[in-house]
Amino acid sequence: MLRQRLQMAVHMVYPPRCLICGGLVESDFGLCGSCWRDTPFITGLVCDLCGVPLPGSSDTIEHCDDCLATPRPWTHGRAALTYRDNGRKLVLALKHGDRHDIVPTAARWMAQASRPLLGADMTIVPIPLHFYRLLQRRFNQSVLLAQAMARQTGLPCCPDALVRSTYTPSLDGKSRDERFATLSGALAVHPKRTGHLAGRRVLLVDDVMTSGATLAAATEVCLAADATEVFVTVLARVAKDT
Ligand SMILES: [Zn+2]
Ligand SMILES: [Zn+2]
Repeated sequence: MLRQRLQMAVHMVYPPRCLICGGLVESDFGLCGSCWRDTPFITGLVCDLCGVPLPGSSDTIEHCDDCLATPRPWTHGRAALTYRDNGRKLVLALKHGDRHDIVPTAARWMAQASRPLLGADMTIVPIPLHFYRLLQRRFNQSVLLAQAMARQTGLPCCPDALVRSTYTPSLDGKSRDERFATLSGALAVHPKRTGHLAGRRVLLVDDVMTSGATLAAATEVCLAADATEVFVTVLARVAKDT
């Protein structure tokens, strides 16, 4: 009751706005009707490894061509959005626009998309940014998403479980093979955090999955630190044919 009244008071001063166009909306952390329609939420049949939408329906676990061609070391994966239109806009605003207000809603969508994967013995772990890139950007959007997902799901989060062991040049514009080569050996489990992963299931969180090279490297080091299984969740999946 008190919370509702407080929320009403806050809304009178700061009315909730659409995360994309800034138009007024009825509830906090939402999108207006037209931005919602232009946002590529992933629903229906999806690839069980990367979350990309697949045509048709199926009673069995399906994998996309990309995941069939590139074996994934993790067990299951989901994505909330396809990386195009407003999906792309939201990721870029979060990554380069300091739009932290997107985080709670994005994490809610990610938690919904990942619901079939979530289990009690799971630890949420974000993909780390390299220190120098963290200095440039001042924050790691994956840490913010992971912490918000932890609040939504009640699962523990270990934000510094993984570290970058070498400086990785930007992957933008690199081919798939170059990405995998650049990233192998680039990630490590923080020496003081190995105990947090041993015997646990790990849910890796990142903002975007393109080739999956970063998530594959992160999965390998978690498994090497005796995590029992690794799952992945991203805000947006880059789909080849879109
Ligand atoms: Zn809008
Ligand atoms: Zn896939």
